[in-house]
Amino acid sequence: MTTKLYHSIHELTQTSLVKAGISLRSGGVSTTPFTSLNLALHVGDDPAAVLRNQQCFSDSTGIKTLKYCNQIHSDTVINADKIPHSGWLADQQSTSEIIGDALISTQPDVTLGVFTADCVPIFILDIATPVIGIAHAGWRGTYTRIAVKTILEMKTNFGTDTENCIIHLGPSIQKCCYEVSPELLKQFIDRFGKDVHNGQCLCLQSANLCQLVDAGVPHDSISISPNCTACNTDDFYSYRVEGGQTGRMLSFIQLI
Ligand SMILES: [Zn+2]
Repeated sequence: MTTKLYHSIHELTQTSLVKAGISLRSGGVSTTPFTSLNLALHVGDDPAAVLRNQQCFSDSTGIKTLKYCNQIHSDTVINADKIPHSGWLADQQSTSEIIGDALISTQPDVTLGVFTADCVPIFILDIATPVIGIAHAGWRGTYTRIAVKTILEMKTNFGTDTENCIIHLGPSIQKCCYEVSPELLKQFIDRFGKDVHNGQCLCLQSANLCQLVDAGVPHDSISISPNCTACNTDDFYSYRVEGGQTGRMLSFIQLI
């Protein structure tokens, strides 16, 4: 049996406008602590192993090139139509020189990606224009509303209307596991309301949902993965559970 290398985001792919998914953990060649389908070069894994993983993933998904950022937990959104392809496959020693945490594009056949291991990958599709966006939202990106800022950039650059957006919050650490300091929790409750916590745990998904609905995205157009990365380290990488030394999943979206 062939190992499944990625999970398709049906909420978006059912529009027939995009290809979208998130890589899973099995089926690669990386060894501990990156076992096994680590797709990121920047985490200290053997570059040759990452290259083989990327090749397998490309064969499985059809992705041949990729645009991604050097992610720094900022709220910076990049118009990917204005940047070159990032390091992927043959160019094994390089990563992206573009600093940011979200990308947008209108170009068919341009694949956008973010790397995560607990942070929320946010997939955005404006079905009318169409435009795609993808964001990396840990607590910093969530608190500074990177999801909404991504849609605003889609609006400024391409005329996106928030009412036409379909959004999916992918597998990420959830309120069952994401314990944070009382101070941080209070900051989130003050900004996004009391639904964002479960005891001492923060719910990044609720905080992102709240800001997107406030920005005018229809509630029914937002879906949330039931998968907590920290609860499912067989399928996903978890930065928190694995003490910061682990691989990354790649979330991707592409207009077709
Ligand atoms: Zn959990």
